[in-house]
Amino acid sequence: MTKSSATPFDTFKQQLRRFIDEVVIPRETWRSETHEQAQTTARYLQQQALAIGLGAPQAEKAIGGLGLNWEQSCEIMEIAGRSYLGPVALQCAPPIQPDSFVLEKLVNSGQRRLYLQPLLEGKRLSCFAMTEPAPGAGSDPQMLASRARRAGNEWVLDGHKWFITGAGQADFAIVVARTEEGVSWFLVDTDNPGFKLIRDIPTMEPFDMGGHGEIILENCHVPAQALLGEPGKGLDYAQWRLEGARLFHCMRFIGLASRAMDLAQHYVMHREAQGRLLGEHQLVQGIIADAHIKLYAARMMTRDVSKRLDQGLSIRHHSSMAKVYVAEAVYQVADSAVQLCGALGVSEDLPLSSILRMLRPFRIYDGASEVHRAAIGRRVLHKGLSA
Ligand SMILES: Cc1cc2nc3c(=O)[nH]c(=O)nc-3n(C[C@H](O)[C@H](O)[C@H](O)COP(=O)(O)OP(=O)(O)OC[C@H]3O[C@@H](n4cnc5c(N)ncnc54)[C@H](O)[C@@H]3O)c2cc1C
Repeated sequence: MTKSSATPFDTFKQQLRRFIDEVVIPRETWRSETHEQAQTTARYLQQQALAIGLGAPQAEKAIGGLGLNWEQSCEIMEIAGRSYLGPVALQCAPPIQPDSFVLEKLVNSGQRRLYLQPLLEGKRLSCFAMTEPAPGAGSDPQMLASRARRAGNEWVLDGHKWFITGAGQADFAIVVARTEEGVSWFLVDTDNPGFKLIRDIPTMEPFDMGGHGEIILENCHVPAQALLGEPGKGLDYAQWRLEGARLFHCMRFIGLASRAMDLAQHYVMHREAQGRLLGEHQLVQGIIADAHIKLYAARMMTRDVSKRLDQGLSIRHHSSMAKVYVAEAVYQVADSAVQLCGALGVSEDLPLSSILRMLRPFRIYDGASEVHRAAIGRRVLHKGLSA
């Protein structure tokens, strides 16, 4: 009798893979939908996932989460990330996952009850509002132009934000604004009369849950308790949030690029040219080999950074290196998958062109590649780090 060597975690991953292939991928439309349609799909998938014990990777088991650490989350998120709806089904699509990660560190008991707990339970949705049009903050957070001033027992916020993911469906926003003490964070309900979502900004992404909103904050009064954490610490908080967010993006996008390459491999093993299968041409084999090498390196870097985070080590330098590498590698892999599938690759019959459009913006958000490269190089030279 052969003894199975599958661990409970292996069995769990197989179950998740079946769920993604059989329940989640068939619900993909690869189109921007109304927020209501997107929410209906999200709720359906979340119920289906919870019914078989699949919840947010890092949320506590007591509220339906999986209670995993960062390293364990890598494998789960890679499988879930094979579909853009996978993280939605597991209630950890951005901005929910990075917002809950950072709120966990910052909230007081009242904020936990009103914001974090409902967010973790899927009853309220969040967005994170930092980026501003020129001359405000983009790559350079020091250019932050939104202001918050004290008025009696309240704060009054004024500012202009854009590209705020999920703003169209959010119940509250984490707003980054300048105060006397420096950069500070505030919790603002989106039904506050001073919080105006003026439009969803269409992007090249084929699907965006809750859109990317442009927001005007005008004479926006919030109570003193809206201040999150300590005033003046906002840039440190943004760093924490971004580090975790980057890692989750790396994990899910490795899954998406891996799916793209699976589709390409299937194609080249069924299509012939010059009397043999495309997959028997060495140039094609070389492209596939390069894709696997890139994904292997991307996985290893992502897992290494995750392990460091689990060990409580600083990941500032390593997460920058991983983010640059993974963002570029997954895009190159998806681009190769499109190339290998010829005309079908650029069509809408396969999801490859949509995957490519989904992956491209990752080289810009959570720190553009150039900004990370500049920071890595500066750190290396100033600290005399050895390669
Ligand atoms: C799909 C998407 C979702 C987003 N979601 C959110 C969100 O939820 N919340 C939020 O607050 N923001 C969000 N953003 C905004 C994102 O954080 C910014 O796009 C990012 O910080 C870059 O700012 P910017 O677009 O103003 O680019 P800019 O600062 O104008 O920079 C433009 C380009 O200049 C180059 N560059 C910039 N600085 C340097 C430098 N020091 N050295 C060399 N080159 C440089 C880079 O190539 C960069 O891409 C999102 C963006 C996208 C595309």
